Formats: sequence, C-alpha cells, structure tokens
Amino acid sequence: AEKRLRQSEKLAIIGELSAGVVHEIRNPLTSIKGFLQLMQAGTINTTDYIQILTTEVERIEQISNDLLAFAKPSDELKPQNLVQIMHDVIFLMRGQAERKHVDIDWTPSSDSTLTILGDASQLKQVLINIVKNGIEASKDGGKLKITASKTNGHAVIEITDNGEGIPADKLAKIGQSFFTTKEKGTGLGLMVSYKIVKNHHGKITIDSKEGEGTTFRLHFPLFLKKVKEV
Ligand code: ADP
Ligand code: MG
Repeated sequence: AEKRLRQSEKLAIIGELSAGVVHEIRNPLTSIKGFLQLMQAGTINTTDYIQILTTEVERIEQISNDLLAFAKPSDELKPQNLVQIMHDVIFLMRGQAERKHVDIDWTPSSDSTLTILGDASQLKQVLINIVKNGIEASKDGGKLKITASKTNGHAVIEITDNGEGIPADKLAKIGQSFFTTKEKGTGLGLMVSYKIVKNHHGKITIDSKEGEGTTFRLHFPLFLKKVKEV
C-alpha cells in the first residue's frame, strides 16, 4: 500500500511539472522544426546544422530520461549496502571522469557496509546525478573526493569537488525543477534526487564556496537488523 501511495505521489508531482516539461521540450522542438524547414527549402547547408539538431534531440532525450528515472514505480524498500551502490556508481562514471581527467578519490573509511532500506536503482540514480554534477563542475584535472561513513544512526555519503562552486544566490534554487546553469542542462537531476532521498527518509545538505568547490552530503537512516526476541 505504501508503494502505491508513493507511486501516486510521484505521478502527482509529474503532473505539476508537466507544464514546465512541455515548455522545456517545446523549445528544442521549435528549433528542430525551424531548421528542418530551412533545410527543406534548401536555404541552408544541411551538414552545418546536423550538430545543432543532434544537440536539440539529445536535450529532449535527457529530459525524458530524468523524468522516467523518477516515474518508474519503485521496488519495495529492501536492505541495501550503500557502500556497494556507491562503488557501482563510481565504476559507471569513471569513463566520464577520465575524459575530463578528474581524479575520483574514493575512501569508504572503515565501514565497508552501510545498510539502509532503499530501492537500489533509485539510490543509484541519486548518486549518479550528484557525481555527474561534480564532474561537470570540475576543471580539467580536478578532483572528486567521495567518502562513506556512519554517524549516530545515519549513513553519510560525502561527494566533494574542487570545481566552480555555487554562488550564494543560486544555492537556494538548487533542486527546484528546471533550475540549471548549464547550456545542455535540464535542471531535473537534483529535483528528482531530492524527491528520491525524501522518500528514503533521508536528507541532502550542501556546502559550497564559489570558486573553491562543493560538498553534497547525503544522510540516510541506517537499517538496524531486528534481533529475534527470546
Ligand atoms: P543540470 O545538471 O541538468 O543543470 P541538476 O538538477 O543536476 O541539473 O543541477 C542543477 C544546477 O545545480 C546545475 O545547473 C548547477 O548550476 C548546480 N550544481 C549542481 N551540482 C553542482 C556542483 N557540484 N558544483 C556547482 N554547481 C552545481
Ligand atoms: Mg545534473
């Protein structure tokens, strides 16, 4: 029943978002249509515009991916090892990091197991979004430091980049739908991440200094195995 409730909440949120989504998708569509008309009329050199069209199509694709990751019904919350999930995410993201020569420094401290109740694919999605943002904010040759630890009943994951940082006036807008400072951004990654973390009874905190870097800190209640009563 709780699963159904969460699913209907998610659909309601997507309903609220839909006007924004339509707007965000209509811009690239308008541009694609315009270029196709010019191409058809023979007024422009087709090859010059293929890159623009590809970029616009990719933008629509990214918006769809972000929303689908969120809309997908979540599996039942089960005990998951957050350290293992972080490990898998780093494995997935290392290609993107290497292309930018960003060094990922991953130290799960002494805790090789941090068990929380969750949906593995949604947790993975959150970590991917934050690691990806960290790489995108980094300069070529930057560093992403990732740690996992335990503090009073909580599992804590910290993802710190030494990239551009977030100016104070933008900090308040982080996580709002469609807030992006990137040319190809969707501004949906963190919105989706905040909702997922909230559904996991966790929270996200941010420390950032413009020009110095940013730390995203994820807190989740640890899952404590019930001891059988005798
Ligand atoms: P997108 O990545 O598509 O822009 P997100 O929701 O993932 O959307 O992020 C929203 C905005 O938050 C980004 O455009 C960027 O301005 C800011 N941001 C997120 N993470 C970082 C970071 N690690 N360093 C600097 N800015 C960040
Ligand atoms: Mg992002």
